[in-house]
Amino acid sequence: MDYFDVNLDLTEEDLALKAAANQFAREVIRPTAKALDEMTPEEVIADGSPLFDFLRKSYELGYHKMLLPEAVGGMGLTPLQTHVLMEEMGYGSFGLAVQLAVCSFVPYTAAFTGNEELIKEFTVPYCECTDGSLRSCWGGTEPDHGSDNIGMGEDFFTQPIRTNCVAKRDGDDWVINGQKAAWVSGGTISTHCQLHIQTDPDMGFAGFSIFLIPMDLPGCSKGKPLNKIGQRDLNQGELFFEDVRVSDKYRIIGPDMYPMMEDGILALANAWMATWATGLARAAYEEALTYCKERVQGGRVLAEHYSIKQRIFEMFSRVETCRALSRAAINLNMRIAPGFAEYSMAAKTTATRLCLENASDAIQLLGGNGLSKEYLPEKLFRDARATLIEDGNNEILARRGGHMLFESYPRPRDTIPFIPG
Ligand SMILES: Cc1cc2nc3c(=O)[nH]c(=O)nc-3n(C[C@H](O)[C@H](O)[C@H](O)COP(=O)(O)OP(=O)(O)OC[C@H]3O[C@@H](n4cnc5c(N)ncnc54)[C@H](O)[C@@H]3O)c2cc1C
Repeated sequence: MDYFDVNLDLTEEDLALKAAANQFAREVIRPTAKALDEMTPEEVIADGSPLFDFLRKSYELGYHKMLLPEAVGGMGLTPLQTHVLMEEMGYGSFGLAVQLAVCSFVPYTAAFTGNEELIKEFTVPYCECTDGSLRSCWGGTEPDHGSDNIGMGEDFFTQPIRTNCVAKRDGDDWVINGQKAAWVSGGTISTHCQLHIQTDPDMGFAGFSIFLIPMDLPGCSKGKPLNKIGQRDLNQGELFFEDVRVSDKYRIIGPDMYPMMEDGILALANAWMATWATGLARAAYEEALTYCKERVQGGRVLAEHYSIKQRIFEMFSRVETCRALSRAAINLNMRIAPGFAEYSMAAKTTATRLCLENASDAIQLLGGNGLSKEYLPEKLFRDARATLIEDGNNEILARRGGHMLFESYPRPRDTIPFIPG
């Protein structure tokens, strides 16, 4: 590990965490991701797949609880440590970094509520889990509604509309029917789902609630895994709900708080996306740097040709830009409250674009070899391409970020005390 970190305040503990995560990224994440990338989506989640070895090793080391506070059994990382660890995960592989993080969604959100009963049911067993068998997913996107879901501030957001998946009140319970899109990360292997679902069609997309759903409830089922260009190590698939009955205690947020909660979730998730993108941008930079020190053309190594130095420097600058923006977004949203979404969106939209540029430049610097599966850049390029759509299309995030700069409305940072971290 020789990529310098400009933060001179990193403690011995921070540096040890970083070194261990870097070793894990190189020795466990990279080889697993390469193997999964070459499999069919069905093979990725079949018994005996390297995916489950990866999860078990991650859980044994406690990486599955990196977002959770110490009070509930989590790692209790500082914002800086969270950034450092996440960057290394993204450096290993963007797809597996996402897979590992989504595993913690339900326990994380349960911890966020402060509700002892939910923490006991969802968070504590997860933090104690060492075999990778408890895994969450986030079900937001629907077959007919992708960007719609995060279109807060758009004129259509509050118009009456019926979505693909709805929950209706029935006595003390809720009954869920419908489906979520094939884009649910880790949905195919999930045991729990953080389900964002409409409970008030009259309020359109603003009429959503958040439920924490054990996926072994009667009526829950899963579709076949999605086949896609990049992040093939991140398995995705539809979720189906047929008359799934859940107690009201599993509804943790109703429409009154939903827009604000969505704001907070995007503030965190986009900051994480930007951090994994930093890791990917760095991986591409390092691949190009190493290659240029070895490949001889015109009688000397590429690095000794002046324009190559310039191109490598451009890649280095992108890594530093990604890191500065993502670290600031994580710091802001973890230290104060998860409600500075515009900063996270700026970080996400910029870092994902720059990591794609770095992956593309790495291919170009490797010449023909850059296109070969013998080398990493072609995978980095395919993985990076997905990041511009993942967790919100960049254009829609920019529009929503723009609304935030012009309009004032209640923000989570004003009202919600932030516990995790
Ligand atoms: C790798 C990956 C992982 C993902 N993980 C999850 C997950 O875990 N859980 C989950 O629920 N979802 C997940 N998603 C889904 C993701 O959040 C959606 O794909 C994303 O929000 C975009 O929705 P869409 O694909 O339906 O595109 P659409 O919304 O159909 O957009 C298509 C195009 O139209 C543009 N567009 C859309 N609306 C407007 C508008 N109002 N004005 C102008 N232009 C517009 C968009 O910018 C885009 O270019 C994931 C996606 C990817 C790629």
